[in-house]
Amino acid sequence: MQLFLKDIRLNLMEIENTAQFCIKCGKPLDRKEIEGKKRPFCPGCGWTYYRNPLPSVAAFVKKDNSVLLIKRGVEPMIGEWALPSGFLEIDESAKEGCIRELEEETGLKGKVKKLIDVNNEKSSLYGNVLVIGYEVEVTGGVLKPGSDTKEVRFFPINEIPTIPFKSHKGILEKGIKITEKTHTTKD
Ligand SMILES: [Zn+2]
Repeated sequence: MQLFLKDIRLNLMEIENTAQFCIKCGKPLDRKEIEGKKRPFCPGCGWTYYRNPLPSVAAFVKKDNSVLLIKRGVEPMIGEWALPSGFLEIDESAKEGCIRELEEETGLKGKVKKLIDVNNEKSSLYGNVLVIGYEVEVTGGVLKPGSDTKEVRFFPINEIPTIPFKSHKGILEKGIKITEKTHTTKD
């Protein structure tokens, strides 16, 4: 019975995540095997719905021996700690998006130093999310929570709270390792 309910839930998720009508001409979509996958396809105008991961960006900011985290003010995982992050706008580069999200969520201005990692996250709300994590150097601004965040603060590396997003955790851990190495080489 439990398995059965799980199947229904998965099927509902699949329906919600899949377009039912053509976004170009409004006709109901068929499903057709295209490039090795069954994809929603419009018999009217030929539009094919390719479902792709959703690109998002996350900022890794380290100061002294602390890292910047935000307490989320929006779902999913509202009230949990995470890296400053968000979805890319259609007209911006990943680096621009990362700097914008950092400023919106924490009040800090910055510039991208380097790419840390690219991870995937299965989101109950958004499906497969691609998370691009950059190391960011703060160049100005005043630390204060934005409209999407409840709290912003630096945590000493040995006091980092639970981070529910696997993708963010991975970027955080790799970022700490990379910056430690850089530090050691400079010394
Ligand atoms: Zn169509």
